[in-house]
Amino acid sequence: MSDDCIFCSIVAGEIPSRTVYEGDDVLAFLDANPLAPGHTLVIPKAHHEHVQDMPTDLAGDVFAVMQRLVDPVESAAGADGSTVAFNNGEVAGQEVPHTHGHIVPRFEDDGSRPIHSIFG
Ligand code: 5GP
Repeated sequence: MSDDCIFCSIVAGEIPSRTVYEGDDVLAFLDANPLAPGHTLVIPKAHHEHVQDMPTDLAGDVFAVMQRLVDPVESAAGADGSTVAFNNGEVAGQEVPHTHGHIVPRFEDDGSRPIHSIFG
């Protein structure tokens, strides 16, 4: 747990969130400012700023949860596909310095096909 980390506060239950999945080491919850309905964030419960800071086993667990959630998230949103991505580092658009994967449901008519056009 890191002081002043909003996602650590979510893990600790100090800030409410809408849980999509919870395991021993990984938490998934709905994004508070979704790019599309069902936009889901997947995080390690332990505080690691960047993808490469996670132990390999934990990175595998995070990715495994993302992989498992893609179908149910797409299905719940009625989506045609999804963007599955990490913004890694401030220069790449990472605003919350606790690594997190995005699952963003995508639709045939959402008009922003390339990934850079939805992640700014
Ligand atoms: P980033 O730009 O760091 O890749 O993505 C951060 C994401 O976290 C954004 O999509 C933003 O909407 C989301 N976010 C920021 N603060 C909160 C929060 O307190 N609760 C939830 N559920 N999502 C948040």
